[in-house]
Amino acid sequence: MSVAIHRAGWRFDNSYTRLPEPLFSRERPTAVSDPALVVVNAPLAAELGLDPDLLRDEGAGVFGGNEIPPGAEPIAQAYAGHQFGHFTNLGDGRAILLGEQIAPDGRRADLHLKGAGRTRYSRGGDGRAALGPMLREVVVSEGMHALGIPTTRGLAVATTGEEVLRATPLPGAVLTRVAASHLRVGTFQFARAVGETPVLEALLRHAIARHDPDLASSGEPAVAFLDAVVERQAALVARWMLVGFVHGVMNTDNMAVSGETIDYGPCAFLDAYDPTTVFSSIDQQGRYAYANQPMIAHWNLARLAESLLPLVHADEDAAIEAVRGVLDTFPARFERHYLAGGRAKLGLATAEDGDRDLFAGLLKWMHDHAADFTAMFAGLAARAATHDGDAPAVAAGGGASAAGADAFAAWRTTWRARLSREPGGHAEAVARMRRVNPVVIPRNHRVEEALVAAEAGDMEPFRRLLDAVRDPFAETAANEPYRAGAPAGCGRYRTFCGT
Ligand code: AMP
Ligand code: MG
Repeated sequence: MSVAIHRAGWRFDNSYTRLPEPLFSRERPTAVSDPALVVVNAPLAAELGLDPDLLRDEGAGVFGGNEIPPGAEPIAQAYAGHQFGHFTNLGDGRAILLGEQIAPDGRRADLHLKGAGRTRYSRGGDGRAALGPMLREVVVSEGMHALGIPTTRGLAVATTGEEVLRATPLPGAVLTRVAASHLRVGTFQFARAVGETPVLEALLRHAIARHDPDLASSGEPAVAFLDAVVERQAALVARWMLVGFVHGVMNTDNMAVSGETIDYGPCAFLDAYDPTTVFSSIDQQGRYAYANQPMIAHWNLARLAESLLPLVHADEDAAIEAVRGVLDTFPARFERHYLAGGRAKLGLATAEDGDRDLFAGLLKWMHDHAADFTAMFAGLAARAATHDGDAPAVAAGGGASAAGADAFAAWRTTWRARLSREPGGHAEAVARMRRVNPVVIPRNHRVEEALVAAEAGDMEPFRRLLDAVRDPFAETAANEPYRAGAPAGCGRYRTFCGT
C-alpha cells in the first residue's frame, strides 16, 4: 500500500467485531486484477473526514478490495431474511464490512465493500458485482439523499478489470457503501434463530448504542427499540410513496433498523402514476408493488418483533401482547407521515379534514390519465404560481381527453379554494411546493442510458446524471434534459435483480 493513502483520514473503530462470534465471520476481500476508480463521492468523503483528492489518486487499491486501510478489521456479517416471504439463512455473500469510520462530527458510518469476493455466506454465488448495478445504486441513492430521504450512499466505485458472468459477461466492479449501520431486520432474525438469548441481547445492545442511545437506560429496551424502528420505517416508507419510489425487493434482509433505504437492486421511480406498478422482473406476484410497500414494511416489522420476543418478557404471551401494542401503531403512524407529506406537496401548511380526500382525488385523476408522477406535482407548483388553468399534459401522450380536462378542472377548483384558506397566502404555498416536489429524479430511461454508456467505457453521461439528481428542486437550463418523462412508446420499464 502506498504511504500516502494511509494519510487519507481513516479512523476506524470496529464495534461489530466485538459482538459474539456467530454474528459474523472474519474474512478479507478477494484481490482483483486491475482495480480502477470510476466514481469517488467527494462531498461524502469530506463528511466522513476522508481526503477526496487522496482517495481519487490512491484509493483504487482500497476500493477494489486489494488493500485494507489502516485500522479496519474486515468481516462478513451473518443475517437471515424472508425473501419473497420465505425464510432463509443468508449473510454477506459478496460484501465485506471494513469497519466503522468515525467522522469528524462523531458520526459512525459502516464502510462496506459490495462485490468484494466470496465469503462463507456465498452459497452458490461468485461473490462479485457488475458495474451497471453498482453505478445504479450510486445514482439512485444520491438522488434519494438529495430528496432528503434517509439512505445508504456510495462512496466509491472501482472497476476490477475482471468480468463477471451473468446472462452475458459484464464488467466487474466493487461499490463502497456507506451506511449508518448494516443492521437489518434479518440480522435480528438470524440472532433469534441462533437460539441463545445472550447473542440476541448483545445485538440489541449494539443496535441501541448505535441508533437509539437514549433508550440504553429504558426499562423495556426491546419494546422501546421496536417502537423506534416502527417509527423510522413508517416515516421512511411514507417518504418513498411521496416521491414515487418503488424499492422492488423489500425482503427483511433489505430493511435496515436505522431507517435508511438500503439495497438498491431492482428499484425504480414511477413514471406514469399507477399504484400497481412493479418494475422487478423477478417479482412475479407483485408482492413489492408500489402500493403494497406500507403493508410489506408492517409485515417485516412483525418479523422484527417476533425476533425480539425473548428479550421482551419471559412469558411469551405477555411478550406478544407488548409487541403487538407497538406494531399496531404502524398504520396510523404511516398515515400521519404520508398525509403530512401529501399536504406539503399540495402547498398546504395547515390541516383540514378534507385534505386526505383532496390528495386522493388528485392521485385518482393521475391514475386515470396516466399522469407522470414527478412532472404532475412539479407542474402543480408551476400552475399554482401562474394561476394557469390547463390540465397538465400526461405521460401517455400529450394531454387528457376533454372529460379528463373537466375532471381536472373540478379538482383544481377545490384545491384553489383550499389554498385560499392558507393563512400564509399564495406565494408561501408555491414556495412550499417547490421545496418538496422535485423536478429531477433519477429517471429510469436516463439511468439506463448512463449505465449502458458506462459499460461501454464512457462515464460522461453518468457524471452528468449524477450532477442533475444532486440538485432536484431547482429548474435550471442544465437539468432541462433530465426533467422530461420517458419518451412515448418506451413501454413499461423493467429492472433485473441484476446484481
Ligand atoms: P440481494 O438480492 O443483493 O439483497 O442479496 C441477497 C443475498 O444473496 C445476500 O445475502 C447476498 O450477499 C447474496 N448474494 C447476492 N449476489 C451474490 C453473489 N453474486 N455471490 C454471492 N452472494 C450473493
Ligand atoms: Mg440484500
